[in-house]
Amino acid sequence: MIKKLLIATTNINKLKEINNILSDTVNSLEQLPSDAPDVVEDGATFLDNAKIKAYAYFNMYGMPALADDSGLCVECLNDAPGIYSARYAETPKKRIEKLLKAMEHVKDIEKRRAYFVTRLVLALSKDHYITVEGRVYGNILFEELGENGFGYDPVFLPDGFNRSYAEMSFEEKNEISHRKNALVKMRGLLENIFDSDL
Ligand code: IMP
Repeated sequence: MIKKLLIATTNINKLKEINNILSDTVNSLEQLPSDAPDVVEDGATFLDNAKIKAYAYFNMYGMPALADDSGLCVECLNDAPGIYSARYAETPKKRIEKLLKAMEHVKDIEKRRAYFVTRLVLALSKDHYITVEGRVYGNILFEELGENGFGYDPVFLPDGFNRSYAEMSFEEKNEISHRKNALVKMRGLLENIFDSDL
């Protein structure tokens, strides 16, 4: 079993989700100190950004560090907003408006394909990291539906459901989310790492 792992996020919901899924596989899940500096994510891919974050905290605190980077990729927009999901426009509302506007010429819901992605990187040593990706595919709605969740949740209709992410409860969405998907894969890899490897 891996002994100690630093979770490189200050987002309380992510912390909860990560704890739920990894607590049986890792002896001690450590949180970032409250004075931990932010890290500039200026990579060109989700993998770059997750690596930048994981290694920044690995180097700062000298222990294995787990970082994530997520976003929404829309097929008819060449995978935009992608790594720019959080910066696509000024506010969450404006980001959704901009997305719907950019897609207004796509009238067939079946052609409005998209996926949420989470890339996880666990920095284990200076030159050894493990990485996994989780995805959830679906379609982008024509208007917002639902009040729950955050980000692009109100316009994302996951495959196999007739409700948007924002119409699902917190627990229900987390059960099928891209983050969950990635964390379950990471847990699978961690179960095969022995103490002697670290
Ligand atoms: P982060 O890397 O998890 O902070 O995600 C970056 C951005 O992607 C967020 O600010 C959201 O705009 C978008 N995003 C990521 N995950 C989700 C999700 O589960 N629902 C809605 N938007 C998301």
